[in-house]
Amino acid sequence: MISALEIRLSRVERSRLDPAGLNDLPFGKYFTDHMLEVDYSGGQWGPVEIKPFQPLLIEPSNAGIHYGQSIFEGIKAYRDRSGNAFIFRPHDNFIRFNRSAERMQMPAVPEEIFMEGMRRLVDVDRDWIPPAEHNSLYIRPFMFATDSLLRVHASDNYKFMIILSPCGPYYPAPMRIWVEETYVRAVRGGIGQAKAAGNYAASLMAATLAKEKGYDQVLWTDATEHRYVQEIGTMNVIFIIGNRAITPDLESGTILAGVTRDTAITLLREQGLDVEERPLSIDEVIAAHHAGTLREVFGTGTAATVSYIKELRYRDFSIQMDPSGFTVASGLKNKLTAIREGREADVHGWLYRV
Ligand SMILES: *Cc1c(COP(=O)(O)O)cnc(C)c1O
Repeated sequence: MISALEIRLSRVERSRLDPAGLNDLPFGKYFTDHMLEVDYSGGQWGPVEIKPFQPLLIEPSNAGIHYGQSIFEGIKAYRDRSGNAFIFRPHDNFIRFNRSAERMQMPAVPEEIFMEGMRRLVDVDRDWIPPAEHNSLYIRPFMFATDSLLRVHASDNYKFMIILSPCGPYYPAPMRIWVEETYVRAVRGGIGQAKAAGNYAASLMAATLAKEKGYDQVLWTDATEHRYVQEIGTMNVIFIIGNRAITPDLESGTILAGVTRDTAITLLREQGLDVEERPLSIDEVIAAHHAGTLREVFGTGTAATVSYIKELRYRDFSIQMDPSGFTVASGLKNKLTAIREGREADVHGWLYRV
């Protein structure tokens, strides 16, 4: 693709990369040599810069900090066995990013800045993509308000950035989940469908209380009746009941439309499984458990891809499951990994070449 996007590139003098250190990395803790930065002011986007990763200077009166106009995305890049680099479905994240921006009254980021800027940044730091299987480079695009003004308002100035974090293999242990009935993640009319920073701050208390009770995460329920399941922590959730896959629909605007969720639905349907996107109540889940038809529960998201759930705790009642028998989830995980790493044909055009 021929691109008119001009990027000011200033490289680090010496790379911090230690190839031996690219194994077993904790998630999101280490960053590559460079970052992308572009400012919005006076109604337009300024020059796009790729420069050495470095701290930012922020006014104490920064409106983004005080009032929370702040959104982000999470995407992964991979290297196949021949050393080619790919980004998984980044255009879907671009679309979602600008939907989040609109909901938060922030300017849209032009497609060229988001897509071509990301491609160039990953290319500059391509040696940071961990080569071995199951490793990846996590890509974090984000935007926040930069007005210096203590008044609740939609900012006139913004900063869009992309940073990159190499990640080692992510083998999450099967999770114990608390079905949450006191706190809520999102309400109809709220910002649940936006990847907005405030959603995550709002979720922390329930997660902390669940941990104190010995659970890894919460299964959010709807804000009105606490009856319909929503998401698990920051993952979408899929239930295998009988020979159907059931996942909450997106109609209420309270659920983040995960790219991995969409990928999972597509792959499960291709396997001939019936996938239903509809409201699913906790009563129906419990009834399925009693009937012996609740076979699997798992979460989907970019970070962990597929995470197995081994226990659902609802009030005094606990549903125990054995993830070693999760054939649908493990098949999905293997298939997804194979496509991402180039071992299986990419028939949907999900891989974006760097
Ligand atoms: C990011 C996110 C997901 C997963 O989305 P993916 O596009 O699959 O990574 C699910 N739920 C919430 C609340 C999220 O923030």
